[in-house]
Amino acid sequence: MAVMPNSEFLEDWPLYRKYSMELPQELRKLAKPPIHMECSICSSPQTFNMLDEYYVGPRADWVGLPNGLVICVEYLCEACREFSRFFLLWFDPNGAFVEKVGQFPSWDISIEPSLQKMLGRHAGTYKKGLICESQGYGVGAFAYYRRIVEEIIGSLLELIPELMSGNEKEQYLAALEKVKLTTVTEEKIRLVKDLLPPVLRPDDLNPLSTLHEVLSEGLHDKPDEECLSLAAQVREVLLFLVNQVTASKEAKKNFTESMRKLLERQKK
Ligand SMILES: [Zn+2]
Repeated sequence: MAVMPNSEFLEDWPLYRKYSMELPQELRKLAKPPIHMECSICSSPQTFNMLDEYYVGPRADWVGLPNGLVICVEYLCEACREFSRFFLLWFDPNGAFVEKVGQFPSWDISIEPSLQKMLGRHAGTYKKGLICESQGYGVGAFAYYRRIVEEIIGSLLELIPELMSGNEKEQYLAALEKVKLTTVTEEKIRLVKDLLPPVLRPDDLNPLSTLHEVLSEGLHDKPDEECLSLAAQVREVLLFLVNQVTASKEAKKNFTESMRKLLERQKK
């Protein structure tokens, strides 16, 4: 269990998703972590720091209040000191969790260019997933992201051999032939997940294994709360794979081009 609202909670968590933590009776004891988000005035990602203290005032004894406590915190961009982000936080009356119940500017549902390109005509479905997630509808978000995986996993897996060579690549290509014979998404992922090149396995974590586990587990009658966390995992793995494949391809292309230029110059 976490001990304080961390920056990830403020930066990335959607509204109405419970962040479990032990809340102190005196809110001024809570940490005020800096966050890194886009600044509209600087037009770039910047560090934001929280102004003022968590409001307690006459409600210092907020634990046990029937509706808990809602407070607004302001985060100011350190670079321009003009642009602020606001978060409305709801502290649960039992002191066990905090949720974001409002945020300005609102949760970002724009799609990164590399993902947009990969998603193509499925971008609308992805956006619906983001909207569901932003409102705390975990079951809906999971269903939309699952559909995206089903739609694009084939093309995504076919891009991976471009990042490989030699024996590694041959093994992968052989598995890819079997992938084409099945229509079951989990089976497609299972066939190649252990053959991923190191560039797609940061710190030895395997994104395809995570995806396989989450999708195989399914939703059954899990509550929205749990589905939200599963949906976020699917979204993050998808984003990582698409970004990493695109970036590695680009880097390889640039490297090959500059090598060719270098060799041509040497020939002259
Ligand atoms: Zn700024």
